[in-house]
This record gives sequence, structure tokens and C-alpha cells, in this order.
Amino acid sequence: MNESLKMPELFGSLVFDERVMRRRLPKETFAALQRTMQNGKKLDISIANVVANAMKDWAAEKGATHFTHWFQPMTGITAEKHDSFIAPSGDGGVIMEFSGKELVKGEPDASSFPSGGLRATFEARGYTAWDPTAYAFIKDNTLCIPTVFYSYSGEALDKKTPLMRSMEVINRQALRLLRLLGDETTARVSTTVGPEQEYFLVDQKLWEKRRDLVFCGRTLFGAKPPKGQEMEDHYFGAIKPRVASFMKELNEELWKLGVLAKTEHNEVAPAQHELAPIFSSTNTATDHNQLTMELMKKVAERHGLHCLLHEKPFAGVNGSGKHNNWSLSTDTGVNLLEPGDSPAKNARFLLFLSAVIKAVDDYQDLLRVAVASPGNDHRLGANEAPPAILSMFLGDELTAILESIENGESYDGASPAEMKVGVHVLPRFPKDNTDRNRTSPFAFTGNKFEFRMPGSSASISGTNVVLNTIVAEALCGFADTLEAAKDRTAAIHKLVRSSYAAHKRIIFNGNGYSKQWEEEAARRGLYNLRTTADALPCFISEKNIRLFTRHKIFTEQEMHARYEILLENYSKTLAIEGATMLEMVKREILPAASAYGRSLADSACSRLALCPELPCEAEKALCRRIDALCSSLYSQSKELEKKLAAFQEFDSQKALAGYCRDSILPAMQEMRTAADELETLVGKDYWPFPTYGELLFQI
Ligand code: ADP
Ligand code: MG
Repeated sequence: MNESLKMPELFGSLVFDERVMRRRLPKETFAALQRTMQNGKKLDISIANVVANAMKDWAAEKGATHFTHWFQPMTGITAEKHDSFIAPSGDGGVIMEFSGKELVKGEPDASSFPSGGLRATFEARGYTAWDPTAYAFIKDNTLCIPTVFYSYSGEALDKKTPLMRSMEVINRQALRLLRLLGDETTARVSTTVGPEQEYFLVDQKLWEKRRDLVFCGRTLFGAKPPKGQEMEDHYFGAIKPRVASFMKELNEELWKLGVLAKTEHNEVAPAQHELAPIFSSTNTATDHNQLTMELMKKVAERHGLHCLLHEKPFAGVNGSGKHNNWSLSTDTGVNLLEPGDSPAKNARFLLFLSAVIKAVDDYQDLLRVAVASPGNDHRLGANEAPPAILSMFLGDELTAILESIENGESYDGASPAEMKVGVHVLPRFPKDNTDRNRTSPFAFTGNKFEFRMPGSSASISGTNVVLNTIVAEALCGFADTLEAAKDRTAAIHKLVRSSYAAHKRIIFNGNGYSKQWEEEAARRGLYNLRTTADALPCFISEKNIRLFTRHKIFTEQEMHARYEILLENYSKTLAIEGATMLEMVKREILPAASAYGRSLADSACSRLALCPELPCEAEKALCRRIDALCSSLYSQSKELEKKLAAFQEFDSQKALAGYCRDSILPAMQEMRTAADELETLVGKDYWPFPTYGELLFQI
């Protein structure tokens, strides 16, 4: 059948979306549900019963037998516990049942999800509650109900609750500002996100042979292959048939779930690819990105492939990120970061732009925390990834406009009048050349910002909670100022001007990868938080606690809980990586090197027995080097073992994280250097697991 004909039926066919609701719900129920979805009005249980029943009938027709409350605990992945629809009918048979109560609330026995100690003090119980703003969908014959997850005493235990709170807060503050600009029609402002997802595909059979990939998602060893990405022949190159058929199936699966998968191409590194969706409201984009990652893994397996979502699966090869394209849009369809072609739109654009600049400068540390993970530490600052320093790229033209506003000059030198906010018209910025600075962590790309620091495996929730909240805070300050002003146009001009002057240090249009920028950034007083262990403590600084509690995104207790979870995740990850390295060294690398050394010695001995005058130089030299490397590897492994055993001695997570950064990581690096050299010396048939060359080029 023709693909384009199939598309409209395929798209969203597994989603209980508005089309289905309209068809299947009684008029009043539909209207009540719409009200709840739009203004968060609480839903009556009698209405929930009708909705639940309609959902069940619809899902059963599509072959679903189970339902689950689908939620996003602090593990970063999604969780679900399946219950079947069946209930005894009393005559030995069963009927399919699903009540409003089951739809609205669940108790998933969740005591072993990370809670940072939040539940321990109350009751070891977590609850899930239906989020009616997100559509239910069917996955693996199971009706999935999107839910939030919280503790017995009401603290958020998930990634969705704070995101929804932050959407509310930015809506409120943006509306205040719009009203001050004379906009009486906009009823709601939402943030929009289009997350570009990067990933690697490797052969499943090869993947299975590497303990490091299986346990850690990244290679802990691996010598540089003769060919890497230096030819740049993979980027946007022709897609290999096996990958193409994976992508085709992935797209279809995503479309069925209503995910707007749009573009796919090869990335810079060999075996690396990217998928970009069409942007949507942040809440939806976050759910959809979680589904995308899950389906990438699942569909890859069906094609004999394994999908690596880790930020840095291979040393010396580009890592994977998740570019978070972010903007604000109104329910009337206006993108608030679209430069306007009238004086009024000019003022609106410049105010919102100034708010983002101020937010990023004031809360660089929080944005850095939002993207901090042990995996991303290997990526930020490496090949093709933005550095750990936050800065913003605006492009020359927009920067020149802001400069002329600050200095009270005409902007292009040609026009006689000075550039005034709310009086003059802004030129359109060509989208195509604004975003070509790929080294900037936070780039203005014509009508949105592209935040490039988030890692490929992380949920985008945390990033957007921070973005929404810090911009809301800046908007709130602007609204306060303008509310108090007599001459509003003059006040707007002054605000844009003084805000730019105060925060322009965060703007940098040059090469973010250069050493000079690192020095320049230090002179400007910008943060350079290199590792997760360095960044995380900023989360609970006084300033940041004040921000989140004032806007009711987190309570102070929730922040401390989250901080503990993040720290613990860091040291746990390093402990697993360290232990995996030890296992690979002791049980695979040393035995292989030793066996190969013996075969060299055997070969030399038998030849010497025949011809005592043979030099056997190669065997002798290789044996010596291999022996030396094995000895250091052995003593290094003893050392790492000792260091890992010392974990018990720490009673603070913060101190343990620092220890991991300063002691565990360097020890691991040392072991890697020795092992990687061994890989280049030991015979091919002896080496125990697939090399970089095989992993990256054998699809
Ligand atoms: P490219 O960066 O390849 O030139 P685009 O700029 O069109 O492509 O889009 C990149 C990503 O940004 C896509 O996922 C797209 O949906 C998203 N995007 C575009 N406009 C917006 C917006 N207003 N808000 C959020 N994301 C957006
Ligand atoms: Mg990209």
C-alpha cells in the first residue's frame, strides 16, 4: 500500500486523543474532560468512571488486555506496573473492567524507587495520579495512563510534577508581561520543545560480547581504530540498508503513538544517528522523548542491533546529546521569540529575549546542574560538544542591535535615529545563518533557543524545569518593574538597555571550544563547573533554594532529596564502572595477554631449538612489553580494588562524590591506558572482545 495513504490512519492510532474522545465520550463527559485538560479543574469520580470505561472499550478493541499507570520516577526512565482488566464475572468466567478509581489513582508498591529519603520518614508508599493533560496510549497490549508520582505526604517523587508546576509558573508570569504590553486576548502561554535525539547503533552480537557496554552503556576500554571520524564521511551520508529499515520501523511505531518524528540523518561519528521530532508543548515533548528512547532500544533489537543512548559510548569519538530547542508560544499561535516586524512586536520580542539572557546569566549554575551526569561529564568539552561553561550565542546582527540600544546609537550606522525599543522595527534574522555556531551551548536560532548541553540519555524534564523557572523569575522581575512605571514605553526601553548591560557577559559569539574562551570566561566571572561532583552542590545554594521555593516548584525538602539522589547516582555509576573494569581486566584482558605472551614464547623457544642462532627479536620485544603492561595493569587493578572498597568509609554523599572524581576516575583512566596499549599488541585472535573498529564499522 502507498505509504502516504496509510499515514493519516497510522498516526496516533494507539492514542486516546481528542479525536477518539470526541467520538467515544458522551457530550457532557467530553466537555468536562476538556475543561480539566485546559484549566486543571478536578474531575468528578462519576465522570472518571465514564472516561475509564470508554478507554477500556477502546483499548480492548485494539487488543489491550492490561492497563498501567505510566510514570517517570527519579531513575530517569519510565516505570509501569501492569494490571489486567479482568474481573471474575461470578459464573466462572471473567469480564473486562476498568473503573474511574483505577484510572485516577494507583499505588504501585514503589518503595524501591529513589526518593532521597523522602518516604522513609513517613510511609514507604508512593502514589500515582492520572495527568489528564496527557493522552493515554497503548504500548505492548497495555493501556498506559500517564501519571504523576508522589509520596504519602504529597512530595513529588517524579520528573513530571515539577515540570507541570514550572509550566504553570511561566504561564502566569508571561501573561502578566503580555497584559502590560496591552495584550488582552492571550489566555495561555506554554513553552514548546523539540528535542533532537542522538544515538549510536551497534551490532547486537558484538554488543553482547562487551561487559562494559552491557553493564555501563559505554566502553571502558578500546584503542583508537585506524579510521575514526576524521574523514567526516558519515555526517548526512547515505543511510545503510539495515539502519534504514530500523529507522522506518521506528518511525512507524512512533507515529502510531502520536510522536511527531520528523527528520533522521547520520551524525558526525560513524554509527551515530539523530532523530528530530516536530516541536510540541513541553509536557508532551518530555513524554514523547521518553517513549522515543524506549522504542529506539526495542526496535533496534528486532533488527539485530543495539541502540546506545549513553553520552559518550566511545572515547575519542563524538558523544551524543539531546539538543533542547525551546521557545514560548501563546494559545493564539504566536511564538514569543519571533522577532517582530512592528514596533509593538519589537518590544515584546526584546523583552522576552532580555528575560532569557538575564535568566541564563543569573542561573548558569542551575542549567549546568540540570545537565550534569557522570555520562555527560565525558562529553561536555569534548569533540563537537559544548564546553561545561554556559554562554549564549545571539549572532552578530542581534548582538549589534542590543549594543546600539545599550549605547543609544543607530543600529546599522545608516539610519539616523537611535534604536529604540517599542518604537522601531526589527529586521528579520535569517534563520539559516544564525545557528551555524555549533560550539555554543545556548544558541539563538532565529525564533527559538537551542540548548545543546543536555545528554542523550537524560530525561529532558530537569532541563526544562530549570529553563521554565529561571525565565519565569526574570519575567516576574520585569513585570514588577513595568507595573510600577508611569511611562511604560520609556520603562521598557530602559529595562532592555539596563538588563543587557548587566548580563552581556553571558553572550559569546566566538568559538566555544577554544582555550582562549576558557580564559576569557574566567575573566568574565562565568562558572566553569567541570564535573557532576563540582556542579551538584550548586543545586542547594541559598539563591537556588529561594528561586524554586518562591515559585513553588520544589519544597526545600524536595530539593535536598533530589540532591541526594543525584549525588548517589554519580558515585553508584562510578562504582559499577570500576567493578566492571576490574572484572574485564582480571577475567578477560590479563588472561588474553598472558596466553598471547606464552604463544610468543613457545614460538620463539621451538624455533631456537631448531636454530639456536635465530634472533627472535620481535617475540622478545613484544613479550617484554606485554609483560610490563600486564604487571602494571595487575597492580593498578589491586589499587582500584582497594579504592572501591573504601566507599564504606564515607558517610556523606557529597564527600563520596568528590572522592570518586578525585580518586576513582584517575585510577580508571590509568588502567585504561595500559589495557588499550595491550590491545594494540595482542594478536587479533586472542583479544577477548570486539574492538572499536569492529563496533563502529560493522553494520
Ligand atoms: P535545524 O536546526 O535542523 O535547522 P529546525 O530549526 O527547523 O531545524 O528545528 C530543529 C528542532 O527545533 C526541531 O525539533 C523543531 O521541531 C524544533 N523547533 C522549531 N521551532 C521550535 C519552537 N518554536 N519551539 C521549540 N522547538 C522548535
Ligand atoms: Mg544536532
